[in-house]
Amino acid sequence: MPIDLLQIDKRLRERICPSCVRFTGAGTCSLPKNRPCSLFENLAEVVDVVRHTHSRRIDPYVDALRSRVCAACHFEDEHGSCPCRNNVDCGLDTYFPLIVEVIEDELAR
Ligand code: SF4
Ligand code: SF4
Repeated sequence: MPIDLLQIDKRLRERICPSCVRFTGAGTCSLPKNRPCSLFENLAEVVDVVRHTHSRRIDPYVDALRSRVCAACHFEDEHGSCPCRNNVDCGLDTYFPLIVEVIEDELAR
């Protein structure tokens, strides 16, 4: 069955955004216009990471995220360090365990 990215996007916006530090009282995202959310900007890749990782532990998912998404993200430096991650200001990184749960749930439907 084809992957319904729009449905996954919708579920993630319902489950992740309200818990995110960037979510405002008005129900919007406070990220500046020139800084798209790493989760939704890389959604297809993130879904593919989850689809091809099978583990009861989160570490293999994090490793795949680092090598496939973070390594290509302009925030990460040549030493593998990311100021957003270090400041708990990347929704994709901060809520990754819950993101994996939501995506796996959608893929199992
Ligand atoms: S940063 Fe991403 S996850 Fe957080 S509120 Fe904005 S769009 Fe949602
Ligand atoms: S943790 Fe940093 S490098 Fe990884 S996606 Fe988020 S902003 Fe990009």
